[in-house]
Amino acid sequence: MIRKRLQNLYSGEKDGIMKMADIFGKRKRSEIMSRIRSRSGLDRKVHNWLCAKHVRHKMYPKAEGNPDFLLKDAGVYLFVDSCFWHGCPLHFRAPKSSFAGIRWEEKIRKNKERDGRRSQLPYRWIAVWEHSIKNGDLERILKENGIL
Ligand SMILES: [Zn+2]
Repeated sequence: MIRKRLQNLYSGEKDGIMKMADIFGKRKRSEIMSRIRSRSGLDRKVHNWLCAKHVRHKMYPKAEGNPDFLLKDAGVYLFVDSCFWHGCPLHFRAPKSSFAGIRWEEKIRKNKERDGRRSQLPYRWIAVWEHSIKNGDLERILKENGIL
């Protein structure tokens, strides 16, 4: 089995994503890709911004619902929602074709379902869209919520 996996891994496929599929399986791959594409860049940006503002926080805290940040002093969890992956009503555009074999429609549908269940989370949270980060609205939102 291991030998087979190694063969798959080094079978000469140029696409790194397909290699990951061989190793991790579909479900894990989609989880990894979703983290890579939807989270890291944007979250890094927010992380840097929070650092610059001296807002104490933890990125990817272990908490129900997978919030992106815990804002420690306020005790508030922050979700940063990608305009694409969470289906922003203002900015979502469907891609012309599937990319890298990712089933984005299903993923976005699941994200939106999960977002809809946030009202049941057992802690205080706020969610911001990617576009709020890009247009500098995060500061206003955090101030309005008594966090800054
Ligand atoms: Zn948006």
